[in-house]
Amino acid sequence: MIDFPAEEFRERLRQAQRATRESGSDAMVLTPGPNFRYLAGYRAHKSERLHCLVVPAEGDPVLLTPELEAPQARGTPIEQLGVELVSWAETDDALARLVDLLPGGARRIALDDRMWAMHTIGLRRKLPEVEQALAGPIMSPLRMRKRPAELTALGLAAAAIDEVHAHVYEWLRPGRTERWIAREIGFAILTTGHAKVEFVIVASGPNAASPHAEVTDRELERGDPVVVDIGGVMPDGYNSDCTRTYSLGPPPKKFQEYYDVLLEAQEAQCEAAKPGITAARLDAIGRDIITRAGYGPNFMHRTGHGIGLETHEHPYIVADNYTRLTQGMTFSIEPGIYLPGEHGARIEDIVTVTEEGNARLNARPRDLTIID
Ligand code: ZN
Ligand code: ZN
Repeated sequence: MIDFPAEEFRERLRQAQRATRESGSDAMVLTPGPNFRYLAGYRAHKSERLHCLVVPAEGDPVLLTPELEAPQARGTPIEQLGVELVSWAETDDALARLVDLLPGGARRIALDDRMWAMHTIGLRRKLPEVEQALAGPIMSPLRMRKRPAELTALGLAAAAIDEVHAHVYEWLRPGRTERWIAREIGFAILTTGHAKVEFVIVASGPNAASPHAEVTDRELERGDPVVVDIGGVMPDGYNSDCTRTYSLGPPPKKFQEYYDVLLEAQEAQCEAAKPGITAARLDAIGRDIITRAGYGPNFMHRTGHGIGLETHEHPYIVADNYTRLTQGMTFSIEPGIYLPGEHGARIEDIVTVTEEGNARLNARPRDLTIID
C-alpha cells in the first residue's frame, strides 16, 4: 500500500468542486463509500448515523460526523487539508445540521448514490424545494481516470494478488474441496498485504461453467479444469482482481481447444487497449474471435470492469459502452468460455491505458497451468 500525501486530496477536491459546478448542482453530499473515500481519504463507517462530506460548488467543504466517529476523522488527509469538521451529538437532529451546512439558496444538491434512503427522503422533507440529483455522474469521470498515485497503489495490489496465484498450485490437489482451497487462498490474500479478502472463486470441473460460482464442498478430481478468480482490498482501499485457470493433470481435449481460443482473444484485447478505442470495440475484439471459433453463446458476460476503490466501477468494457478509452483508465480484461455441465475457463488481467498503449498490472503466465 502507499501513503497518499494530503496534497493529492487537495487536487481531488478541487476537481470535484469544479465538476459539481459544471453539473449545475450547488453542492454534493457524499456518505461513506468509495466516493467519500476518494475525497476524504479515509474509510468511514456505513451506518444509520449520518456521516458525510459536503462539497459545495463554491466555498469550503465541510465534514459532518457523528460525535463518536469524529476521532476517526482526525489526522486523515481531509483534516490535514484544514477542512472544517462539524460533529453532531446523539440527540441532535443530524439532518438539520446538514441543512445548515448546505450553501444558502441551494436549488439542486447531488447526493451520494449510496446515501441511505432514510437520509435522502429525510432531506427531501426538510428541503422540499431543492432538487436532488445523483453524485455518481459527477464523481465517476474523476475516479475513472486513475491519477499517478492511484496507479502505483493498483500496481501494488496487482503484485500482491499475483503472489497469491504463484502459490495456488500448492493447494490444488485431487481430493481437496473447493472450500478448503478457498480458505488457504483467503489466508494468503491477507498475508500478501491485503487488508481484506474481497472474494475467492475456486470453481472446479462442472462448477467452472458458472462465472460467479460460490465455493462448494466438491472434491477436486484429476483432469479437472479449475477457475481461480480472487481479489482483495489493500489497506489504502485499492483493489486487486485476477483470474487464472488451472488443470489438475492433462485436461479434456475439447477444453484445451477452447482454452487456446480464449487465450488468443484475451491477448488480442490486451493488445488493442489504447487511447481512442471505445469500450464497445474492445469488447467486440475478443468476442469476435470467440464467436468465430463457435463459442459465442458460451461467452455470456461483458469483457471487463473498471477497478480502483471498488472492484467493479466505470468504465465497463461492454457492447453498449461507447466511452473512448483515455490514459489512466484501468480495468479488467477477462473473457471466458463456459460449457454448462462440463467445464469453463477465464483469463483476467488488470490493464491501465497509457499515453500510447497500455500496461498490464498482472504478470502471472496466462498459458493453462497444468498441475501434475
Ligand atoms: Zn475477477
Ligand atoms: Zn474482474
